[in-house]
Amino acid sequence: MAIAGSTDLGVEANLRGSRPALRVAIDQLPELRSLSVAQDVVEIGAALSLSEVERRLEGRIPLLDAVFPQFASRLIRNGATIGGNLGTGSPIGDLAPALLALDASVVLVSTAGERVVPLVDYFTGYRASVRAPGELIARIRVPLPLAGTTAFHKIAKRRYDDISSVAVAFAVEVVAGRVERAAIGLGGVAATPVRAPEAEALLVGADWTADGVAAAAAALAATGTPIDDHRASAAYRRAMLGQALPRLVAERPGG
Ligand SMILES: Cc1cc2nc3c(=O)[nH]c(=O)nc-3n(C[C@H](O)[C@H](O)[C@H](O)COP(=O)(O)OP(=O)(O)OC[C@H]3O[C@@H](n4cnc5c(N)ncnc54)[C@H](O)[C@@H]3O)c2cc1C
Repeated sequence: MAIAGSTDLGVEANLRGSRPALRVAIDQLPELRSLSVAQDVVEIGAALSLSEVERRLEGRIPLLDAVFPQFASRLIRNGATIGGNLGTGSPIGDLAPALLALDASVVLVSTAGERVVPLVDYFTGYRASVRAPGELIARIRVPLPLAGTTAFHKIAKRRYDDISSVAVAFAVEVVAGRVERAAIGLGGVAATPVRAPEAEALLVGADWTADGVAAAAAALAATGTPIDDHRASAAYRRAMLGQALPRLVAERPGG
């Protein structure tokens, strides 16, 4: 089993007694630690820690900058990798909703070579993905240009150092008060991180006002299949989805 920052696997070992027969540390492999910026894409090495990604991006992806301070603590972010966050396949990981809203793809690598999978096609079920045994996430690709209005709403029991009950990531382009482009990534409302295609479709062409986004907000509230668990009830999760767009419009009246 591949081990990167071990902030997830360490918990499995400590609390659940997990002892994989073979563990291979990948966090220092140079092939997984590059970060490049081209005109049409940013590529982020999967074994970079969140702190390294934050520093090396130098603010180029504001949506990720909105996630970082809400992701655990600096101590965890110094070890936790971007590839490990997707590698867990968790439906409540924070990076997947943001990367979904950014239309990101993952580059998977194995002895057979590389293949690129849009993140929206990557997760196949609860903690399951298209990643084959023997494949690693090598890099994450974020296409450019980015949408102008981005935000990350993390709803958790504690403000800091807690896992999300619900996470909503927005990447919206508002031109002269009207939505031209919209992508929404969600965590905590289904067995996998998901996009919100119905809400996105209703948002495009809508006025960027509370009334204008009302239909999209209702569609967003109906997205996914949230469950009751120890973090939140299904009803609370739906309520959080329903208020996410009106909140964003109120926070960014000009888009
Ligand atoms: C106190 C605490 C707070 C936390 N808070 C948050 C939070 O706010 N938000 C959040 O989303 N998570 C949180 N986490 C969970 C964890 O920190 C993240 O999921 C982290 O990104 C995991 O990365 P890692 O490098 O430590 O992965 P590891 O623990 O090393 O590995 C996790 C899984 O990913 C696989 N893996 C690792 N790298 C790759 C790769 N390149 N390709 C394929 N598979 C790979 C491993 O085989 C393993 O199955 C928290 C954890 C702790 C302990």
